[in-house]
Amino acid sequence: MEAYRRTVLYIEDDAVNMTLMRHIFRKYLPAVLLLEAETAELGLRIAMREPLDLILLDIGLPGLDGYAAMNVLRSKEETRHIPVLGVSAFAQNADMERARVSGFAGYITKPFQVRLLAEAVESLLAGRAHVFIEDKIR
Ligand SMILES: [Mg+2]
Repeated sequence: MEAYRRTVLYIEDDAVNMTLMRHIFRKYLPAVLLLEAETAELGLRIAMREPLDLILLDIGLPGLDGYAAMNVLRSKEETRHIPVLGVSAFAQNADMERARVSGFAGYITKPFQVRLLAEAVESLLAGRAHVFIEDKIR
């Protein structure tokens, strides 16, 4: 039985992206427990009851989108301290800026290099304040 040291929640509606993240955590972040939610609404419920060290948040989601979810997270005593890394295909400068002013601790654009994603997660888990990476694989 593995003892997980940290817990991360990934809110993502795309099953392929979710599967990829599961593999990344298994390979590069084996001591981190990955919780999964396919909607913001479910993710917010998990965030209210589980002690989380980090949330990975897709922006384009059915129902509440990532920014609406961020507003809820920031408005609640139980969740406002949790750093949030945006993970999104929205990759314009304006998207990065919007994430910054919305209180995201970081933002990484899809598609991303697996190692960069893993490093961004490790950085934020280690307490680094901001990690903004525009990472279009060419
Ligand atoms: Mg999506």
